[in-house]
Parts: sequence; C-alpha cells; structure tokens
Amino acid sequence: MTLLADSVPESAREEIRRLLHGPCDPTALSALITLRKALADDPGPVYGPGRGALLLRRLRALAEALPPGAGILDDPARLAAVHAAAAVADPSLCLAGLVHHLLCLGSLTELSDDPEGLEPRLSALREGRAKGVYLITEAGQANSHLATATRADLDPADGSFVLHTPGPGAAKFGSAGTWGVEQTGVVLARLFAGGADHGVFAFMVGLTDERGPLPGVELSSPIALDALPLDYVQVRFHRVRVAPAHWLSDGARIGPDGTVHDPAGSPEQRLQRTLRVGQGLWAAMPAVAAATSRRTAVQAVGYARRRRTGSSLAPGVPLLTYRTQQTVVLGALADAFALTCAADGALAVRTEGRSAAPPGPEGGEEKMGFTPWAAVSQPLAAYKAVTVRTAARLTAECQHRCGFSGQLTANRLAAYQGFHHAFDTAGGDSQLIFYDIGRSLVESLDERKQQQEQLPDPTSPHWWPALLRRHQDDLVGELRRRGGADPASDPFERWNPLLEQAGLLGEVRATLLVADDVTRVLGRLRDQGLVRALTPLAALHGVLCARRWSGSLLALGTLEPADMAALSEATDRLCEAVMEQLPLLVEVFDEYGDRPGVAPAPPAAALTWTLGSAS
Ligand SMILES: Cc1cc2nc3c(=O)[nH]c(=O)nc-3n(C[C@H](O)[C@H](O)[C@H](O)COP(=O)(O)OP(=O)(O)OC[C@H]3O[C@@H](n4cnc5c(N)ncnc54)[C@H](O)[C@@H]3O)c2cc1C
Repeated sequence: MTLLADSVPESAREEIRRLLHGPCDPTALSALITLRKALADDPGPVYGPGRGALLLRRLRALAEALPPGAGILDDPARLAAVHAAAAVADPSLCLAGLVHHLLCLGSLTELSDDPEGLEPRLSALREGRAKGVYLITEAGQANSHLATATRADLDPADGSFVLHTPGPGAAKFGSAGTWGVEQTGVVLARLFAGGADHGVFAFMVGLTDERGPLPGVELSSPIALDALPLDYVQVRFHRVRVAPAHWLSDGARIGPDGTVHDPAGSPEQRLQRTLRVGQGLWAAMPAVAAATSRRTAVQAVGYARRRRTGSSLAPGVPLLTYRTQQTVVLGALADAFALTCAADGALAVRTEGRSAAPPGPEGGEEKMGFTPWAAVSQPLAAYKAVTVRTAARLTAECQHRCGFSGQLTANRLAAYQGFHHAFDTAGGDSQLIFYDIGRSLVESLDERKQQQEQLPDPTSPHWWPALLRRHQDDLVGELRRRGGADPASDPFERWNPLLEQAGLLGEVRATLLVADDVTRVLGRLRDQGLVRALTPLAALHGVLCARRWSGSLLALGTLEPADMAALSEATDRLCEAVMEQLPLLVEVFDEYGDRPGVAPAPPAAALTWTLGSAS
C-alpha cells in the first residue's frame, strides 16, 4: 500500500507497514487500499443542504473497510487506520466517521444491555444507512460535561423515560443538522427516578427521518464552523418518550419498585463509566494526527526541495538549502515520526484496556476537576490532547513555509490545520485535560525524589525523554512548594494561581508518553537502513521540542542557559544527518505518492486564462 521503491528491502517494507498502519492484518490492509481509492475522487462537501445522501455513501465506504456486522468496532488498529485515511482525504468526513463509529455506535455497542432492543436503528448505523450523532455538550455553561442538565425521568408505569431540555442553556451542541436522512443520536442525560438523581446515562434517540426532526426533537438553524465544517446545530428535547430498551443501562437496572440499582456505585463513577467510549476516539486520534502530519511534512519537504530562491544571498538555490527552512520542514517530518510512534503507543494502551472490566465503585480515586476525561483514562486523554495539538502546530508551520501554496484549498494543509486546531476543543478539551493531569500528578506522585537518569548527548534519541522526566519532577516539586498538595486549603484558592503551571505539567506528562514511544518504536526496528535513517529524525524531534519548551526548562533550571548553545549545534548536526537520509525518509513517509510536494495548485496549465485586448 505504501509506494516504496524497489531498492527498499522486503524486511524494511514489513517494518514500514507496521510502523504506518499499526498491527493491521493483510485483509485490513487490502480493505484500506480499496477505501483510499474510493475516497480519492472529490465528490464535494459532505455537509450542507442536500448533502446527506453523499455523507451516508462516504460513511458506508468507511464501514466497508471495517469488520462486518456486530464486529465492526472490534479492531482498534483498523478503526484508527480507516479514520486516518478519511482524514487525509477529507477532514470533515473523518469527524463525521469518528462521531458515527466511535462515539455513537461505540456507546450502543459497549453500554447497551439489550442490543436486540436497539434494532432496526443499530443495523442501519452499522451499515451506513443512517447517520450517528453524539450529544453531550450543553451550550449554556463551561465544563457542561460535569454538569449535565438534560433530564431523563423514569416513568415507573412502563419503565420508559421522558427526555427533556429544562432550559435554553441545556440545549445540546453537535453535528445533528443533516436534514433528509435518518439520524440516530446517543444523548447524555441525567437519570431521575422517584425524584432522585442517579447520574448521567446515555440514551439512544431518533433525531430525524427523511422528512425532518422527529416529534419532540427541535433543531436550530445551521451553525457555521469554517475550520472544520459539518452540519452543526443546537438540539432541544421536548418531553421525548424513550423506550426502556433504548436506555444504555451499562449494567444498571430498575427494580419492580422503581429503584435504580447501578453497579457504578456513585454518580461520579456512573459518569466515568458512561463516558468510557471516549477511549476509542482518543486511541484513534494519534493515528489520524500522524497520517495528516506525514502527508503535510512530505508535501512541505517536497516544496522546499523544488522551490528555487531568488535572494541575493545565493540566487537560484532551492529553499531547502537554508537551515531555517530545514529546521521547520525536517522538524515537521521528525514530529510526524513521533506522532506515528504515539499512534502505536495509544493503540497498545487501548488494546490492553479493552480487556479490563469497567471500573466498579472501588475505583473512584481519580477525581474529575475540570472534565471527566482524564479520570476515564489518563494516558488516552493525554495522547489525544498532545497529538492533536502537535499536528495543529506543525501543520500551521508547514503552511507558513509553503507560501501562498500552503494556504491553497487544493493542497489541504488549511483543512488539516483547521481539523486539528478545532480538535483541541472537540473530543475532550485538551487544555482542561492538561489541567486535570497536572493536578492529579501533584496530588498523587510519589514524594521521594526519583533517581535521576544520566543525560546522554542531545544528539541521542534518549536525551529528550530523560530530560523531560527531570522536568516533570521539577514541575511537580515546584507546584508542591507553592502549596499544590496542601489538602487543608480551599481547592479554588490553591489551584487558581497554579493552574497555568499545572497545565504545563499535564502537557509535559503527555509529551513524555510520546517521547518514550519514539525510543520504544526505534528500539523495535531490525532493518539497519531504517534504524540509520530514523535515529537522527527521532533525536531531531527531541531537540526541537526542547527548544520550544526552553522557557519552562530554563525557568526551573532543568536546562542551564549554556545548554542552549549545545542545542543549536545539535540541531545543525541532526539536520545534516537527516538531509543525508532524506530520500529514504520521504520514501517511507510518502504513503500517497505525492513526491512533488505542495504545489502552486492548480497548475498553470489547468487554469483558464483571459487575455484583455484592445477593443
Ligand atoms: C469541531 C467541533 C465539533 C464538536 N462536536 C461535538 C459533538 O458532536 N457533540 C458534542 O456533544 N459536542 C461537540 N463539540 C463540543 C465540544 O465537546 C466542546 O466545545 C468542548 O468540550 C469544550 O466545551 P465548551 O465549548 O463548552 O468550552 P468551555 O467549557 O466554555 O471551555 C472553554 C475554555 O475555557 C477554559 N476553561 C473552561 N472551564 C474552565 C475552568 N473551570 N477553569 C479554567 N479554565 C476553564 C479552557 O481554556 C477551555 O478551553 C464539538 C466542538 C467542536 C469545536
């Protein structure tokens, strides 16, 4: 599937396939090739009036690349690869697919105790005949995921529920505005029985059919979001009757006397259990970020290689001759490699976590401060936050270094940037995730000073993770000194002045996950040609990260000012080493055969020209 030159040995090909597509088996790889062909044509946007049928056709193409029937979500690596392919072709389709498969179908599959009772909607969703929607966010207040106001009141007469939006602030926000097709929503609502609050559960709710909203469902006019366009709306529910089987009860049950018995044990645990489907999304996001970033970086390298310069310093040399351009575009290639390694790490966490039982009442020690996400899975929430943010940054930098061509719609860099930038907020707000991780590290990490690893030379790929570990310890120590672990003080008074650094600490933790993945994946490679090519790239990722983090590293003394000069020298040496390996690296990362790079598209020959003439 990757278009590798004949000179690349077979042993390396196998390792490259494993690197780029994760542990996908041959059936999955051949399904991916078919999918890419299906997505290669550009039928126009999958959003907007009259585009619902097209969106369903594209969702069907994604479903056909996944295992059939009830097993559609069984293979996390395949889910990640399919949505990565969708993102490269069309970021809006990717978002629609992620919501449809991982959040909507994921909730129905993981949380229902009665899958038969979800028919025929469940099969229609699996087969791409209906569109899936996920509605958790409420428009009226920040941190709404911790304070759901939408109600589902149990009717003890028949065990059904009455779903209701209690006020304008509780209107849901999401991509539910595709008129003209069947849409099924997974709606998060607070369950009330006998007047008591039993926590937030998910409910399957029909939203629209071919004619429009179903009775009791009210959709707003379309809400434009240009960075990542889809059919966004606000949704209100007016006493919508929900059948008992459409309660995604996840082990909870209602006794004959109308009492709710929930194995979760508390409303906090219930929320975490209901939201555990988020893990499927977060496990796929690093692969999505990696795929668009590889394409972006290869495009930017191609542009810099090809683009002649006219400056008086050295007229005629290609852009890539300049160290300033090398640092950014080779740096993007290095970050894309790191994201590729993170995709591997996230899938490993997901695969391990899937076999674990859902948390019971005893597992509630991780607190939900700003969002529920880090409490659901700290590593997967961290992977989502750091990979999406990295991809947004590197894409913006590559756009900038590709001149007007980097902004052209046809080259898709703007769409990739919009996707990742919007995903900093979507799918679990990344900044809030970092705050929660930082706070929990300060409150939970072992007090004793860790044995400090010896730092190797910065040109070693092992330097960055070792330095980051030191920095993590330094940040924890600093936040503790400033009272972050003082249980006696009021939480708001304690954390308000420390929150910025807590966010940094959370981001350091997430960055460390990626840094460790890089050395782990590198250590797994056997083909010596690949090892030679990827080792300087891995080290370049670390050195450039350290330069970006220099403010915090210097402020806490993790690095000394004198170290910065060594970093610049290391960057120069690593850029030279990467330049020597560039043909193979581009070969490895150029899955789409886009070797010419970002083009000043459309090419002059494809344009229609109008010549003015004297009348
Ligand atoms: C492209 C896109 C698609 C989306 N699709 C869906 C969807 O399909 N379904 C759905 O339910 N939702 C969807 N959302 C909504 C998304 O989940 C939320 O926007 C996100 O969770 C953030 O919530 P909010 O917008 O209410 O931001 P807020 O909670 O208002 O937070 C905004 C910012 O304020 C700061 N902040 C907030 N609270 C605090 C605090 N307590 N302390 C300090 N700082 C704070 C943080 O910096 C935060 O980033 C989508 C969003 C986007 C951008």
